[in-house]
Amino acid sequence: MATGRMNQLVVMVNLCSSVVEGIEHLIASQSNDRLKEDAVSGLLTLEENLKGLQADKSVIHETRWMAEVIKNWLFVYDREFRDRLYRWYFKALKELRNLMFAEIEICPVCSGKGTVHYGASLYMEGDETGKEIIKPVRIFMKCKECGNYYLAKEEPGIIKRRKRTARTRAGCKRILADIESLAADDTILFIGNQNSQLYKEAVAAGWKVSALLEADALSTDKKDRYAAVIIDRLSDSRDMNAILDRAADSLADGGILWFDGPDLDKSMDLLVKKGRVIWRNMASEVYLTQKGTENLAKLFGLTIKSRKKVGTTLGRIEIIAQKS
Ligand SMILES: [Zn+2]
Repeated sequence: MATGRMNQLVVMVNLCSSVVEGIEHLIASQSNDRLKEDAVSGLLTLEENLKGLQADKSVIHETRWMAEVIKNWLFVYDREFRDRLYRWYFKALKELRNLMFAEIEICPVCSGKGTVHYGASLYMEGDETGKEIIKPVRIFMKCKECGNYYLAKEEPGIIKRRKRTARTRAGCKRILADIESLAADDTILFIGNQNSQLYKEAVAAGWKVSALLEADALSTDKKDRYAAVIIDRLSDSRDMNAILDRAADSLADGGILWFDGPDLDKSMDLLVKKGRVIWRNMASEVYLTQKGTENLAKLFGLTIKSRKKVGTTLGRIEIIAQKS
């Protein structure tokens, strides 16, 4: 669920640390010109990025100040300077942490504000050191605005990811039949991977299919209109909003949008009735709920035509929405 912004923040945390490390070297070597230049350019890069992220003004100011001092005024590296350096360092890290928190609060669907919904405590079984892990390893957020759920944090390496199960041929045929019953003609924009079964079945069934990878769907400004748009596997990237927007935009009037996602209500049901751990699968997607999809459609100027719950062990919801 990494976003461009989140990646940028992680890079900045690392840059902060390497700048401090560099300045420590500079202090030890007493004015080495190359180290000095590196420190200054590192700080200026940080300043630039902090500005871009609209960070707290005093942090931006202090970063600039550090760069100026090191560049023009620093001849003696004393204790006071080092104290000042670490005060700046911790302040910058704190601000970056705040920005990261703000980032995970933003819902990938509607950019509304999410709140922590579920923190699962998982225990490692059969760990040879007998160590138990009791901190939350997966945190789900519930968006207060649109009512959908998304993964905000996951401890790496704890949950074994199963490979996504591919759609069956019969499943794809049924999906295409659902679309055909509502679409005005045989033009489809397919957003997703062309190796997927659903794409192959659509082509084999004689649909006029244009395909776009998710990433390309965001960059291209081709403005063709289609009777149907299929999004094969909505990712939970923060670009989800843009992808849905693009999909809605590519529909002719009365056009049909098809997409699906894991069914949260079903997972909850299995937890209550069978004690099955939820969240073990498909965490890389946004979980959909009845209420959530309703709101989601409204957001993009669509009306829900059908909502199909499929699958017995891992429930999914298939949505067909129509552009009004
Ligand atoms: Zn939302």
